[in-house]
Amino acid sequence: MADRNLVIERRHFVLPASEIGRLIAALARRDYEVHGPRVRDGAIVYDHIESPKELPVGWTDEQEPGRYGLKRRADDAFFGYVVGPQSLKKYLHPADVRLLSAERKDGTFRILNNETAPKHPYAFLGVRACELAAVGAQDRVLLEDKYVDPVYKERRLGVFVVAVQCTQSAKTCFCVSMGTGPRARAGFDLALTELLGNGSHGFVVETGSERGAEVLAELQAAPATDADLHEAEAAVEGAARQQVRSIDTTGIKELLYQNFEHPRWDDVARRCLTCANCTMVCPTCFCTTVEDVTDVTGDHAERWRRWDSCFTLGFSYIHGGNIRNSSKARYRQWMTHKLASWIDQFGGSGCVGCGRCITWCPPGIDITEEVRAIREG
Ligand code: SF4
Ligand code: SF4
Repeated sequence: MADRNLVIERRHFVLPASEIGRLIAALARRDYEVHGPRVRDGAIVYDHIESPKELPVGWTDEQEPGRYGLKRRADDAFFGYVVGPQSLKKYLHPADVRLLSAERKDGTFRILNNETAPKHPYAFLGVRACELAAVGAQDRVLLEDKYVDPVYKERRLGVFVVAVQCTQSAKTCFCVSMGTGPRARAGFDLALTELLGNGSHGFVVETGSERGAEVLAELQAAPATDADLHEAEAAVEGAARQQVRSIDTTGIKELLYQNFEHPRWDDVARRCLTCANCTMVCPTCFCTTVEDVTDVTGDHAERWRRWDSCFTLGFSYIHGGNIRNSSKARYRQWMTHKLASWIDQFGGSGCVGCGRCITWCPPGIDITEEVRAIREG
């Protein structure tokens, strides 16, 4: 991925929509495996793509607490949606990783390390600002803390990012209040702003790294004019203005630390199913568990690392019992970690304001409303 600390001269160009296919091909020629948005099972998800025809052309998403749906747009936008249920966590910190397998054969016992790195580095197309902020949060935890996660590291290094600036927000977005979007400012190799005005379809492209500039040099891009830049900036500002949710982060750590016994925790516990959906869709949640399994013969055993969640009963099991056996304790742990103790641990918030936990929560619990209730109560 583009070095977040590298300062390069930012240059802006205009790219016709017809060049997106050549962009994908240029990345594939450089041995990247290109993944981007696709429509599958009624949602826009990340998947392997080889052609712009596979992008969600002409689709948009509608999101509300506990609700997600796709509908047709009036135009053929490639990236005319906001965020789907998946994030780059799917690739960089996968849900299931076989750490090792063990075999007993002819009186011998062998342990094999089965964790395999991807054959080709990833290139991600269509990455939003909140997504980049989430990768930054996972970098801090999995690459830059005391212990480096080797699984994350081998997937993360060398990644190429084509960001897409948001030109619309969902009703569940609140990245503006978290300071993470809707404009991506760093962490990308190229950043596209899709423009569909005046009967034309194209992109303003910003270079974020030398690699990005090299790829762009192979495409039919022309220098952007002030009018192009103004149009792109106005489109992103429009997305910011659409946001109807926010979190007031002023003193939020102290607010939550001082309100462990606030009655709102009982209120949310009555609604929360402890289903763990919010942690699965959250692009920053990183907790895992380890499971050992054997076949019926006992000759073959495997050790798997799987996503876990502070909402599962077993997650906080220690000898003698579970230390968070009520839904109140588990919801409070999740939200307080995201918005308060994460700051103590890692120096920043664990929430990037993507809104996925609101959309994909079956009863529609809304983290922004929970914070507001505690602040006002
Ligand atoms: S807050 Fe919502 S998504 Fe999260 S565990 Fe509770 S019911 Fe499930
Ligand atoms: S807590 Fe919710 S809004 Fe914040 S990053 Fe996680 S899924 Fe997105």
